This record gives sequence, structure tokens and C-alpha cells, in this order.
Amino acid sequence: MRDKLQTFQEYYFPSVPPALHPEFEHFQQQVARRLSVLAAGLILLILPLFQLFETTSGHFSTTALYHQGQMRLPVVVLAMLVIMLRLLRPQGQWPRPAMLTLGFALICMVLGMLLYHLHWGTGYAMTLFSGLVMSLAVTSILATRGSRDLLIIYLIPGLFFIAGLALLEIPLRSEGLTLIVPLMTVVIGVILAENHYRGFVTMFLLTHHLKRSATTDPLTGLLNRRATQSILDLECARAKRHDLHFAVIMADLDRFKRVNDQYGHEVGDEVLRELAGRLSASVRKEDSVARWGGEEFLVLLREDRPELVMQVAEKIRQAVAGQSFATKAGPLSITISLGGACHTGEEPAEATISRADTALYQAKEAGRNQTMLAKPES
Ligand code: GH3
Ligand code: MG
Ligand code: MG
Repeated sequence: MRDKLQTFQEYYFPSVPPALHPEFEHFQQQVARRLSVLAAGLILLILPLFQLFETTSGHFSTTALYHQGQMRLPVVVLAMLVIMLRLLRPQGQWPRPAMLTLGFALICMVLGMLLYHLHWGTGYAMTLFSGLVMSLAVTSILATRGSRDLLIIYLIPGLFFIAGLALLEIPLRSEGLTLIVPLMTVVIGVILAENHYRGFVTMFLLTHHLKRSATTDPLTGLLNRRATQSILDLECARAKRHDLHFAVIMADLDRFKRVNDQYGHEVGDEVLRELAGRLSASVRKEDSVARWGGEEFLVLLREDRPELVMQVAEKIRQAVAGQSFATKAGPLSITISLGGACHTGEEPAEATISRADTALYQAKEAGRNQTMLAKPES
């Protein structure tokens, strides 16, 4: 029963683990950016159309039309500003405040018009009520954080509206009943907003999972070869443009086939997992460690001083050889050979890797459990 409850909760109320909160925040901002442009576009289309319809319908006095236009104008201007802001800064600031302000302004406008109608009478309430229902429904999709966003969009203008009713001493007679439909729309809006929020969470988690599995190696949790190749290309471009330096170290376990043959593949896997931890612990945070092939690893150092590259390679070698690996077959002594190469000039990443590979081969030839540094590109 408990498991079922947990599955139910995970399925219907998925939540983002705290470690992913900054990434989720970024994702929500992206969604907000898109939605704010969508909402602004809809406002620019619908509000002038309403004004035009009311003008041509003959139901409204010139004064009422003038006042309604005045109430619509700030929201139209705001929508234009939001679109301009997005055009000027496509990846820029305030996506969420811009979106919430739009929703807030729209509901304030439509409730203000309703108040105006109830107090002075415009002659025709139908378009106002349908406008209110439409605005409530549309703004519910702007709530990227679920119903709490609707507190700003619905609740504050709603309280202003009730205060306005009280101040202007407006009795709700037949209109009171008509207000039931907008009230029901508020409830539907809250449910829709919550549903949207859960949809965003699921979409975010799925995207995150997909991205992760496309870039990491499932056995060791290190970067995989594909992800590393793009990082290396990026490093080459950065090296060329900003004169930044990097080096690579290729590392390969010694006589690893024997470990598999003697103790089985599972024990071999245990060694690889433990090795991944030791490699990561031997380098700095800004460096990258990747599983390049079966038992071959690549370390990318944001540094190209030969003595420092050798120092890191030696540190890794000692981290492997210096302490046995605890496996279910007992402690195993493992060694590793390493070859380093500093990126030079404008050579492509493949050339640097190839030189590191040659150095690794020399380390193997020299008797394994060694570190070698490749000669600079000739
Ligand atoms: P050398 O010192 O020359 O590198 O000898 P070696 O035995 O390590 O080299 P070789 O390339 O001949 O063998 C690599 C072995 O790595 C072969 C394979 O059994 C093992 N291996 C590759 N990928 C995995 C893996 O994912 N899990 C396990 N357990 N073993 C793997
Ligand atoms: Mg090997
Ligand atoms: Mg190998």
C-alpha cells in the first residue's frame, strides 16, 4: 500500500530534487519567456478586437466606449513593452515578473471595467462577463509555478474588486448570479495551473534524464566519449579565440584483461567504478574526467604547463597503485599507465589526443605503471 501511495505521488505530484533547483529555475524562466510573448501577442490581438466589436455593436455610449478604451490602453502598452523587452533581450531578464504583471494587469483591467459597468451601467454586460471568463482562463496558463502564481494574478485584483464594490456601495442583484461563472472559472484556472506546473516538472525531469544519459557513462557516472568530444572541440575554439590553454592525459589500466579473466567481469566493473572515483578526486573541479573507451580514461586539464600536467598524471598513477581496490574477490593491486599532451597552436583536439596516446603507448612499452609526456607538436 505504501509503495502504491509513493508511485501515485511520484506520478501525479512529481517534485524536483533540491540539487536540481537552480537548473529547474532556469527551465521555468525559459518557459516564462515563451509564455510572456504568447500572452502579450494574444492581448494585442484580442483587446483591440473587443474595442472594435463594442464600437460597432451600438450597445455602448460614447463615454462608456471612451472609458473602456482608456482601461484597455495600459494593458495594450504593457503587452507591447513585454514584446519589445523580449525582442531586445531574447535571453534576458524578468521573464516571470513580465508575465505575472501582464496577467495581473489584464485581470485588473477586466474587473475595473466590470466595476465601471455595475456602477454607471454601460448598457451591455455580456461582453464584459465573457471577457472576464476568457481572461481568467487565459491567465491560468501563465502560472508557471502553479496556483501560488494565481494568488498574484487572481487574488489581489479580486480583493480590489470586492473593495470597489463596497466603496461604491454596489448591490449585486441579478449580476451576483452571473458572477458564478467567473468564480467557477477561477476554480478551473487553479486546477489547470497546478496541472500545468506538474507537467513542467515532468517535462523538466525527463529532459534532465535524457540529457544526462546522453552525456554520461552508465557504469562509472563519468562523462562519456561523445560529450567529451564536444567539450574538447569547445576547448580548441576557446584556446584559439581567447588564448586559453589545456592539456589531455590518456590513462589505461595495466593488464586489465587478466583481472576480468581471473575474477570475472563483475569484479572488473567494480574496479572501473572505484577507479572513476579516484580519478575525479585527483583533479580540480574545473577539469574533466571521461571514460574514453573500455578501460581507457581521458582527463582534460585547464592548464598546459608540462610540469603541472606531469604532476597530475603522477598523482593519478599513485592514487591507483598506492592503494589496493576493494572488490568482492578481495583487495586487488591495480596499476595504470598514463600519457599526457599539451595542446599547442591551433591543432585540432584529435591531434592532441593522438600525441597523448603515443605517450601512453611509450609508458606501456617502458614497463607500465608509468607516466610519459608527449613532445610538443613538431
Ligand atoms: P594493457 O596493459 O596493454 O593495457 O593490457 P590490457 O589487458 O589492459 O589491455 P587490453 O586492451 O588488451 O584489454 C582491455 C580489457 O578491458 C579488455 C576487456 O576485458 C576490459 N574491459 C573493457 N571494458 C570493460 C568493462 O566495461 N568492464 C569490464 N569488466 N572490463 C572491461
Ligand atoms: Mg589496458
Ligand atoms: Mg585499453
